[in-house]
Amino acid sequence: MSICPRLEISIDKVRHNTKTLVDSARRHNIDITGVTKVFCAIPQVADAMVKGGVKYLADSRVENLMKLENINIPKWLLRLPMQSQAREIVKYADISLNSELMTIKKLSAAAREANLIHKIILMIDLGDLREGLWQDKVEEAVEEILKLEGIKLVGIGTNLTCYGGVVPNSENLGKLSKMAEKLEKDFDIELEIISGGNSSSLDLLEKKGMPEKVNNLRLGESILLGRETAYGNPIEGIYQDAFQLVAEIVELKEKPTVPVGEIGMDAFGNKPVFKDKGIRKRAILAVGRQDVNPSNIIPVDDKIRIFGASSDHLIIDVTDSKEEYRVGDEIRFNLEYGSLLGLATSEYVYKQIK
Ligand SMILES: *Cc1c(COP(=O)(O)O)cnc(C)c1O
Repeated sequence: MSICPRLEISIDKVRHNTKTLVDSARRHNIDITGVTKVFCAIPQVADAMVKGGVKYLADSRVENLMKLENINIPKWLLRLPMQSQAREIVKYADISLNSELMTIKKLSAAAREANLIHKIILMIDLGDLREGLWQDKVEEAVEEILKLEGIKLVGIGTNLTCYGGVVPNSENLGKLSKMAEKLEKDFDIELEIISGGNSSSLDLLEKKGMPEKVNNLRLGESILLGRETAYGNPIEGIYQDAFQLVAEIVELKEKPTVPVGEIGMDAFGNKPVFKDKGIRKRAILAVGRQDVNPSNIIPVDDKIRIFGASSDHLIIDVTDSKEEYRVGDEIRFNLEYGSLLGLATSEYVYKQIK
């Protein structure tokens, strides 16, 4: 028997998904940056992305980039740098995404101290209201950046559909493209990377609406879970199940669906409500909210329903399943972004690479 609970990762599926997306982006002259943060940058999985053809790897955390030190490909830091980490950043990231001049100055100092050139991509906020300079502030920032030693401005980029849910289209990404042209002309520079967003930009690419100057996308979820993220649709020809949760049944009993007694609070301080479905066959699995949010997992056996979870127990309804489950059996789940993130991060979940 294998260790439970476990996160099963199919390297072949990750490689296939990467290659399929890399090849289709290449037809639009777009390079792919493979984003590793949702699986905490497990090196074998990152390596599958490299074998699938990504040009760069990227992560939000320097700690994760450190794990990728032995993979010989340029690496990006995605989250805006902390000034307190400037030294580590110039050491472990070849490129970082930036929006604060004071921070870029700190990176400049760290790069000079380490005797290297640190590359940066300047982030522009096109309305999603997460990171990035507002458009009318870009020119003055570039003017200052170009004066700094140890820093090379290699591109501009944007991030959409993260905080504000703003969907990428030819209009907002058109502004990024025009901005790149204008900066190249006004400052007589060449911007080699115009990074037009994350997995939410794939739908626009598919519809051939991507402005021409955009030549890079940073992809995590689409490669790993096979979905574009502007509308949440599965992408044809790639796998949605490269990652699965497997958990073990530790109790299996027929019980009512409504608790017996006065209802106070549950383990998380909420007052639960129950629908009476009579007596059901309930299985308890040895995995819980400490590892995963039960609303972000999908049983592979589609006759299974999820009742809920406490910190260490997941309770499911197996009454309608065609399988005759027994205590000790394993139950499989497909994953959404949030659940993959939780499971990859939990030290109580074994990571099985297949
Ligand atoms: C996480 C992240 C990505 C990847 O997003 P996906 O939706 O997983 O493709 C891209 N860019 C930045 C800045 C990020 O933080």
